[in-house]
Amino acid sequence: MTTKVPFKCQCGKVTGTVKNASPSKGNHVVCMCIDCQTYAHYLSSEAILDKNGGTELFQSTPNNFEIIDGTEFIKLLKLSPKGADRFYTGCCHTPIANNISAKMAFSSTPTAIMDFDAVQSSKAQTIGEVSHYCMAKYGYGDLPKNAHSKFPLLLTIKIFVTLLLGKLTKSYRPHPFYNDKTGEPIAPSQVIDKERKHEIIEKLYKIKQTYSSDS
Ligand SMILES: [Zn+2]
Ligand SMILES: [Zn+2]
Repeated sequence: MTTKVPFKCQCGKVTGTVKNASPSKGNHVVCMCIDCQTYAHYLSSEAILDKNGGTELFQSTPNNFEIIDGTEFIKLLKLSPKGADRFYTGCCHTPIANNISAKMAFSSTPTAIMDFDAVQSSKAQTIGEVSHYCMAKYGYGDLPKNAHSKFPLLLTIKIFVTLLLGKLTKSYRPHPFYNDKTGEPIAPSQVIDKERKHEIIEKLYKIKQTYSSDS
């Protein structure tokens, strides 16, 4: 059975679907890394972060993602010149997907934008339970018992294998976020302003400190 889960930005101008949304076609993870947190705060979409500062994501191959409406509203932010390509919506600052590049079989979408009700299934029934809690050294509060301080090796290997297979099967095509012919992203790439980034990181360290002084 293939499950197509619709997604949309907060205001509804950007819509799309995640095809083959299942545990066998992707990874259901939570990432607490400083970049994912910085990104959420930059977009003023902190609501997407869980109680530990984690972003819940479904990682799959680009050919499983499709944008239906609102491509013109999509923007691209990088947290460093060589960092991941983070696509969000300019209309309402909703994070849509993180990618590496046009020819890499990796695309990761916040589960918060996916509408599991539309497929009359729970999130866990569709994409399985969260398999990995990553980069917990940046998380705060009571962390899940199985949280990994860095990036779990098993997940790294899984992603690496997917990337390798993707080179052979071209599962990065069609890519919803890059032009298949030119490899150019669908939106101009913008690198975060350094000062703004520092401000946010300081704020994040303060948040983390509040938690550690409470315990
Ligand atoms: Zn929107
Ligand atoms: Zn992250």
